[in-house]
Amino acid sequence: MENETEQKDEMTALEAIYQDDFECIHAPSGGYSGRIAVHVHSTDTAAVVEKTTPDNAQPPKARHVENLPPVTVMFALPSGYPRAAPPRLSVMCSWLTREQRLELERRIGALWDEEQDVVLFRCVDLLQNMVHELPLVFPLEVSVDVMRAVVTYDCAARQEQFDSTQHTCEICFEEKRGYLCYRLSCGHVYCRDCLRDYFALLITEGSVSNVRCPDARCVKAGFRVSEDDLSSIVGAELHKRYRELVVKQALEADPSIAWCPRQQCQGPAIKDATYEKLAICQKCSLAFCYYCRKTWHGAGEYCAIDNLQRVARDYEAADAVTKKRMEIQYGHKNLAQILADAIAERESARWLSDNTTGCPTCQSSIEKAFGCNHMQCSVCDTHFCYLCGAYLSVQNALGHFNLPGTRCYQRLFENLGADEDELAAAAAREAWG
Ligand SMILES: [Zn+2]
Ligand SMILES: [Zn+2]
Ligand SMILES: [Zn+2]
Ligand SMILES: [Zn+2]
Ligand SMILES: [Zn+2]
Ligand SMILES: [Zn+2]
Repeated sequence: MENETEQKDEMTALEAIYQDDFECIHAPSGGYSGRIAVHVHSTDTAAVVEKTTPDNAQPPKARHVENLPPVTVMFALPSGYPRAAPPRLSVMCSWLTREQRLELERRIGALWDEEQDVVLFRCVDLLQNMVHELPLVFPLEVSVDVMRAVVTYDCAARQEQFDSTQHTCEICFEEKRGYLCYRLSCGHVYCRDCLRDYFALLITEGSVSNVRCPDARCVKAGFRVSEDDLSSIVGAELHKRYRELVVKQALEADPSIAWCPRQQCQGPAIKDATYEKLAICQKCSLAFCYYCRKTWHGAGEYCAIDNLQRVARDYEAADAVTKKRMEIQYGHKNLAQILADAIAERESARWLSDNTTGCPTCQSSIEKAFGCNHMQCSVCDTHFCYLCGAYLSVQNALGHFNLPGTRCYQRLFENLGADEDELAAAAAREAWG
């Protein structure tokens, strides 16, 4: 009973001293067990290196850490402790060698043999001193798993130190607590609000190449913000937009990439290896023609000409650099063909507009049928006036040209060449009966 009370008092005292570093449970069968973390306050950065294994061909990774994980004392108190039985103690530490751990265990275990009293506080105190006097050989050689644990611990510890200290934001020059700030991997510290606003503005404006530490030295050095940092600062949505813009701008610099013609998509598309004109959107899987940007029309089919006209016009208006780029983009031979087709198409369009007019009903181009200005659409049979586009009644088509005071009065045979006079006269005879 007396032991039980002394154990309880010792636990209460240790909890008050070590707080979060102390943990214990009281077993239903009686007796306490628990752990105390002993922090290693290293002033220098410690180098840690991965142990080389025969099957690991890679050179060992070395890291510098500022904080090593704590050394932990595990204890279990038998019912005879502290008067009649020693505490069971073990030392846990991933980065110490087995020999070092056993030596620490032996030394703190010897304390009870001397005093036969409550000894846990003195054990921890002794351990703390011994850890700092250990002849540690740097770099510490550890396994891959331990390396990972050591690095993770160091990151968390550094973050904790950062969060609890004051920093001056180099944008707004206000002093703020670390948890309101962000340290970029270049080491510069800004408050989260300033960085988020700054990066969000750049991304929204599409100026993604300027998303970097705003410090003049970092701008000069071309230092980029890491993806993880950016995502943490601006949030997932803007980070996604940033990624899209970066990819888009990179691809725009590469003329072999096409862009999805779907307005809502505009994803990057890769040219097919087999069919030269075929491009497949990487985002929505649309298959489309690389040249005319219409939905895929088959390798043997001609391209929709209006888009080729646009390509031809762009090429003709382009400066030397853009011309060069377009030649790479479309291929010399193809571009020459596109230009030839576009010119032929343009000439034929000019001829049509000189010699035909559009049907007011179906918009078909109609060549002058009678050599006069009375037109009949060969597609939909609409009768109309070539000069003003007015519908003409089938019964009295010529009445349109016989209304005094109108634009078309007596102009049935206007705009005819001299050699067509004969034809016109014949047509007139036919028309007037
Ligand atoms: Zn600020
Ligand atoms: Zn910087
Ligand atoms: Zn698409
Ligand atoms: Zn096409
Ligand atoms: Zn028509
Ligand atoms: Zn008319």
